[in-house]
Amino acid sequence: LEPLFSFMIRVRVPGGVATAPQWQRMDALADAYGNGTLKLTTRQTFQLHGVLKRDLRPTIQGFNDALLDSIAGCGDVNRNVMCNTNPHESQVHAEVQAVAAAISAHLTPRTTAYHEIWLDGELQNTTEATDDAETVYGKTYLPRKFKIALALPPYNDSDIFSNDIGLIAIEENGELLGFNVAVGGGLGMTFGQPETYPRLADLIGFVPTANVVDVCEKIVTIQRDWGNRENRKLSRLKYTIDRAGLTAFVAELHQRLGYALAENRPYQFHSSSDAFGWTGPADGPSHLVLFVEGGRVLDRPGYRLKTALREISAFHTGDFRLTGNQNLILANIEPAHRARVQAILEAHGAAPKAEQLTALRRNALACVALNTCSQAFAEAERYLPQLLDKLDAVVRAHGLAEAGILIRMTGCPNGCARPYLGEIGLVGKSLGRYNLYLGANHAGERLNKLYREMLDEDGILRELAPLLAAYATNRQTGEGFGDFVVRTGVVKATQYGLDFHS
Ligand code: SF4
Repeated sequence: LEPLFSFMIRVRVPGGVATAPQWQRMDALADAYGNGTLKLTTRQTFQLHGVLKRDLRPTIQGFNDALLDSIAGCGDVNRNVMCNTNPHESQVHAEVQAVAAAISAHLTPRTTAYHEIWLDGELQNTTEATDDAETVYGKTYLPRKFKIALALPPYNDSDIFSNDIGLIAIEENGELLGFNVAVGGGLGMTFGQPETYPRLADLIGFVPTANVVDVCEKIVTIQRDWGNRENRKLSRLKYTIDRAGLTAFVAELHQRLGYALAENRPYQFHSSSDAFGWTGPADGPSHLVLFVEGGRVLDRPGYRLKTALREISAFHTGDFRLTGNQNLILANIEPAHRARVQAILEAHGAAPKAEQLTALRRNALACVALNTCSQAFAEAERYLPQLLDKLDAVVRAHGLAEAGILIRMTGCPNGCARPYLGEIGLVGKSLGRYNLYLGANHAGERLNKLYREMLDEDGILRELAPLLAAYATNRQTGEGFGDFVVRTGVVKATQYGLDFHS
């Protein structure tokens, strides 16, 4: 006998775009082998939780049958490539999505081991199996995980500055010209080790679309060759860049490319959150951005989102887009299907009206944390809705029900739900205790800063209530909560990753 091991499996979904048959397959696999729920993650992927060891193979074979895989879901390689999900910009979005898919394909490990172990079980030719032709990663892969995201201004819903490589699409007159490139983002840190810190990526120049895969590859190879392989806590690209210096890093990149990046092009981000509800013309394809609390697709009494989406997937001819904010877009819904989609959601209690949810709740992010993640010190996904019940009362009392304040909670400082880009960030330090961070800006372009440590629920409410009251009274037109607490001196602005702790 061996222990009853159970696993989390993460699927690779470049840009978060899945077809209806793929949604159906994930729904069925969650029931057959998982815990009956789907988790939509902050990297636009599916996670299945509670998969028993004996069921790993049929689960992964089930992915494969729907042209999905879990290659590079974990490991020291490039992870799921994120991409802006906004369906309004359909033409340019489609081109940006294609770039995301091309980057993902180019940086997917070539190893045959995945297929040997999980699919047909046939051991490949020994020489091939050992060489594996990893032209980008080599035999030792990367020092640590690597993350890439693309965004199409004015939406920064993939939080590109939190990635090792962030790519900002530049369009002119409806034509995609290329991308501004940012390098060195990453949010993980370790409590008690100030040499670890969250850091936002630096913009280093513009690249035409034709060269963007090449630029990504060369950046990856620099990290492969220069990254710290002795201390995993200091091995992400952000530390490589801060150790070598950005100027030296960019010079090396230009040398490996054989050409230089051009000057950054102007752009402007307005928001990093999702815009909920229906969009699109009455007589053309429309889109529905659905709020999914904590990214958890499930059925519970009075709220049967999983069943509703299964019914919709049986006739929906568009796609299912997983957003970087753990929500879901039913995109390109045929005009004839629009009323039917709405009726199904309402019948299953899965279409809450906007006024039922505060903007604070609609913008909330929470990582899995306890009892699924072994790194967690505290609750996040299971607890944040309860905390929001109490914070909702505070924001409603101050007329802030529609103030889109970004609140993000994680069970540890690894940063999976990007808490350091929350205007309110809560990071678990021990059971029931959280560090409170304030002062990020709404567009994902400034980190927050530690405000209070080891708060329990009463402490969180005690600290936030007067700040929210002051914000309601004294904010300037259009001023976000994060900007307000910085302007009024509640916290100092974090200018750069290295001053996050000061
Ligand atoms: Fe787990 Fe920490 Fe990531 Fe949350 S932030 S999912 S607790 S590793």
